[in-house]
Amino acid sequence: MTDSQFLRVENFDEVSKDLPIDEETADRLARRPWPATPIQPDVEVSFEFFPAATEAGTKSLEACVDQLAPLNPNFVSVTYGAGGSSQDKTLSTLEYITTNTDLSVAGHLTCVGATKAQVHQVIDRYLELGVKRIVALRGDAPADGSTVSGGYETAADLVAAIRERDDDIDISVAAYPEVHPKAASAAADLDNLKRKFDAGADRAITQYFFDTDAFLRFLHQARAAGISQPIVPGLMPVTNFAKVKSFSERCGTIIPDWMPELFAELDEVPEVRHLVAATVAAEQSRRLVEHGVRQLHFYTMNRHELTAATCRILGRKPEADVVDVRDDAKQAG
Ligand SMILES: Cc1cc2nc3c(=O)[nH]c(=O)nc-3n(C[C@H](O)[C@H](O)[C@H](O)COP(=O)(O)OP(=O)(O)OC[C@H]3O[C@@H](n4cnc5c(N)ncnc54)[C@H](O)[C@@H]3O)c2cc1C
Repeated sequence: MTDSQFLRVENFDEVSKDLPIDEETADRLARRPWPATPIQPDVEVSFEFFPAATEAGTKSLEACVDQLAPLNPNFVSVTYGAGGSSQDKTLSTLEYITTNTDLSVAGHLTCVGATKAQVHQVIDRYLELGVKRIVALRGDAPADGSTVSGGYETAADLVAAIRERDDDIDISVAAYPEVHPKAASAAADLDNLKRKFDAGADRAITQYFFDTDAFLRFLHQARAAGISQPIVPGLMPVTNFAKVKSFSERCGTIIPDWMPELFAELDEVPEVRHLVAATVAAEQSRRLVEHGVRQLHFYTMNRHELTAATCRILGRKPEADVVDVRDDAKQAG
């Protein structure tokens, strides 16, 4: 490269402004946002936590709640062990959140392996704690095949019971863009979702997925089937690919071909894995928002970093620092 060529590169804007540019390129450049521009300040987020089993896990969970609370989520939720295995821990986690934060909080509740009376006792405890949101689920039957007679059989039955009991409780249910592994067919699964809405659910939160198009197709099919309520995509930033892969096999989430290659040999390199995982989650979020989605649910796995990084790219920062870029634009204009 000669000296004069260096000069041209350094003064690129100066020397190139009068050069002709075709209309299509000009249009493309004008429309394309900078890759790291925060997406939308008006995207709502919610965060899911699970009750910790150890002292170290409890510290990590509490740090996660404390770090993510200032992002002002729409609500946060706490999972529940089907069959009541971690019921007390769910309750103590809900209590930690209601006591230490102003967050709106949802308790998950499963009905498999429980009598109706047991289910209502848990609802009583939720209400005593001020928890007025429930993620109503059937849950997975215990591996030993044991059953309990006289309980609610499906999530739709549970939704109907909660709705009958208190019309003010906000109810979320589960949806499966890549079809529940035990469903007879995709159509039967969609019918089941419709039954849950007909029973009084307010929104569905989906199983996590990595094939964003699968969610967009599912959303289209749900709307075509007459479901008008919100269907919130569930996103899981990958904290550990080996674990995600094995869990996905059980819950029916498809691992796209590009993923094993992307995360190959990164299980022992957490710094690089986290950067890759945040990029994947941010790209998924960006594509969903481009398609009109305005609510995202994050499976945090009780780790705040990846969810916080993805939210920042979405334009969400801790509340005190939130700047509405649209106001700046209005003032400038
Ligand atoms: C957002 C979200 C949160 C979750 N949280 C938890 C949690 O906290 N704890 C936990 O243990 N699990 C949780 N799960 C997992 C969930 O419990 C399992 O996926 C469970 O297998 C199904 O629960 P469901 O509420 O979707 O069940 P349902 O909606 O009742 O049904 C699930 C499947 O059974 C089929 N089905 C339902 N009724 C019938 C019928 N009458 N005839 C034939 N087929 C039928 C449906 O088509 C569907 O395939 C969660 C899942 C999601 C997506």
